[in-house]
Amino acid sequence: MNSPDSSADHLFLQPFWDHVLTEFGDIVSSPFFPVLLAFSGYLCFSFPFACIDLLGERCPLLYQYKIQKNKRPTVEMMILCVWKAVYNHVIYVFPAVFLNWFWMPQWPLPVNAPTVFTLLVEVLGCLLLFDFQYYIWHVLHHKNLWLYKKVHAVHHKYVAPFSLSSQNLSGYELMTVGFWSSLNPIRLGCHPLTSWTCNLLSIWMSVDDHTGYNFPWSLSQIMPYGLYGGVLAHDLHHQRPDTNFAPFFGHWDLICGTSCSIKGSV
Ligand SMILES: [Zn+2]
Ligand SMILES: [Zn+2]
Repeated sequence: MNSPDSSADHLFLQPFWDHVLTEFGDIVSSPFFPVLLAFSGYLCFSFPFACIDLLGERCPLLYQYKIQKNKRPTVEMMILCVWKAVYNHVIYVFPAVFLNWFWMPQWPLPVNAPTVFTLLVEVLGCLLLFDFQYYIWHVLHHKNLWLYKKVHAVHHKYVAPFSLSSQNLSGYELMTVGFWSSLNPIRLGCHPLTSWTCNLLSIWMSVDDHTGYNFPWSLSQIMPYGLYGGVLAHDLHHQRPDTNFAPFFGHWDLICGTSCSIKGSV
């Protein structure tokens, strides 16, 4: 067994990593941990926006930022989305994780924490890779009518997205997205902390895409030069499905000429 690396660049995250291994080692070693992390992240990140949707005009301070003000989700729509997410996890995700755990060799968690620099570079690299993979997949599943109807149309049920609709996906789409977001970091040899951070960030960014609110603190407002598409771009994708295919960043839509801005669209 390796002893912890005591070099200075590992010291920042090492106490946190030691604490995780000591206190929660059994939990984070479980093959189901990343799935539970992602699913609980989906519910927690979505919950505040669901409350804002339910309050609607009664909370003008926040509702003023709603992009499609005339289309507010109902409680029934929200429950249907959560049910769809639960169904997909029970029918597709958990059996797949179980089979993967059963057939594939399992490695113990590393003793050393990554450096902060390594963590940031790995997370950014994995998110950029996922963004590219999903862009290609997304274009393909819109251009091919059969694929659209069989796979992706489920996600376009709502023209005005809301936070909980981020997981309103067909089982095949959820499996594809989950496959990339969970296996990219492993195949690239990243630290488990990178995998979990990527997992949570992907879920957060996906919920952010679907909130339907262009808050001043939304990622697309914070990131300059259209580097990040975010909620403005993805809300438009649900209104005009032949544009804005990238899930997170803006560069692939700009390069490939599929970008559409909010100006003149609503
Ligand atoms: Zn969407
Ligand atoms: Zn789409």
